[in-house]
Amino acid sequence: MNLLQWKLLPLLTLLASVFLVFYLKDPSENECSLLPHKHFWITSKRIVTPQGVISGAVEINGGRIVSIVKEEERHGKIMGNHVVDYADAVVMPGLVDVHVHLDDPGRSEWEGFPSGTKAAAAGGVTTLVDMPLNNFPSTTSEETLKLKIKAAEGRIYVDVGFWGGLVPENAFNASALENLLKAGALGLKSFMCPSGINDFPMTNITHIKEGLSVLAKYKRPLLVHSEIEQSSPSPVQREGSQDDPRSYSTYLTTRPPSWEEAAVRELLKVTNNTRPGGPAEGAHIHVAHLSDSGSTLELIKEAKRSGDSVSVETCTHYLAFSEEDIKDGDTRFKCAPPIRDKANKEKLWDALMEGHIDMLSSDHSPTVPDLKLPDSGDFLKAWGGISSLQFDLSATWSHAKKRGVTMEQLALWWSERPAKLAGLELKGAIAIGKHADIVAWAPDEEYDVNDIPVYLKHPSISAYMGMKLSGKVLATFVRGQLVYEEKHAPAACGTPILATVTD
Ligand SMILES: [Zn+2]
Repeated sequence: MNLLQWKLLPLLTLLASVFLVFYLKDPSENECSLLPHKHFWITSKRIVTPQGVISGAVEINGGRIVSIVKEEERHGKIMGNHVVDYADAVVMPGLVDVHVHLDDPGRSEWEGFPSGTKAAAAGGVTTLVDMPLNNFPSTTSEETLKLKIKAAEGRIYVDVGFWGGLVPENAFNASALENLLKAGALGLKSFMCPSGINDFPMTNITHIKEGLSVLAKYKRPLLVHSEIEQSSPSPVQREGSQDDPRSYSTYLTTRPPSWEEAAVRELLKVTNNTRPGGPAEGAHIHVAHLSDSGSTLELIKEAKRSGDSVSVETCTHYLAFSEEDIKDGDTRFKCAPPIRDKANKEKLWDALMEGHIDMLSSDHSPTVPDLKLPDSGDFLKAWGGISSLQFDLSATWSHAKKRGVTMEQLALWWSERPAKLAGLELKGAIAIGKHADIVAWAPDEEYDVNDIPVYLKHPSISAYMGMKLSGKVLATFVRGQLVYEEKHAPAACGTPILATVTD
């Protein structure tokens, strides 16, 4: 070694250590959380538990809920420990949003894991389950699921699970489907109409039946986009007609409720396979984003009454908006199935309150602003999908509070039941042993969406911009880590959640 090399050695050593520190280490614990404590208590006068709302304290240690004490039982139990007091604010299980499109990898310019999960954390969502399409390639195999898990690692601020895709290509290939499920997909999703994404083709009832028999073995659900094209004029046929494509009603007539009804009627041919003793016992069918509160809902009720393993979700936008509210050219509100009229919306609320609709989700499905065609405002050609993830809780509450919805109902629709659907046993409730996934929020606080930081990649396309909402998220904890409180924790320490095979 010559003299020059000897002189460079300390410099090289220093560079190597800097590299090691910044590139190879995991984020230090205090980068994952805005709170330095692992063992602490959260107190509030309104803690929402499965047994009801209590005034008291929740003890958190090592990311889990280890005890819950009522105010009158405290007797100095929490003395000497770190306490985070939320006073009159509501302390509730974090939201579990089972229907989210983050478009990563492959179309991360549409949303992506970092911005999507930051928005989730700011909105009180502690777990989301990402859909298998709109990312590229679609998540329809073990290999493509691995690509998605890799894309999520180190880039998510809340926990994220993954649905796999059931498509014609894998529907008759049981071992391919099994590999996808063994690799950790929480269940499968399929479409009964064109999905709008070329590498995610639609399935027919035979594909669905095949998929169900594999899902039965793993006791996981099939989520179905339940619309089948009927003879109503398609957007293509209508081009050049007198109908104004900037008018929302033009779009609405292209996707009538009969599409949803036809799909569910077709699904009912196989839902009975899921009954105890049936050929697909253990599998479960979940009707995604129900919009039609008429005959489609009646069919679902009938299937449930017959003992089929069936559930149904509706989305915040069907409960918050109606056809009458949507202005000409405002394509932010285009989604499928479409938002229908006010009477339909009121019936959806009734069905939710009466327990016929099981849960809520966002179907957050953004794109780049250009594809929403803001200039032409053409409802027939614009991308269909509503951007909403950050507003799950406050948008629901803004409408729910007028209807006497309780905090227990909110927790049931947004946390407990979605967690159960996705098989997330450690999530969805403030109960001993569960992950400390918690949102603290002020239901009476109103805010203007334009006045707060919106973390979505393209806030301008969100349907909620310009609105006043009730219910401000104060703090979000994921597995005991304070990931959001006016700002985000420095590091993205959410975990990809994979289903495990139990024999
Ligand atoms: Zn969707």
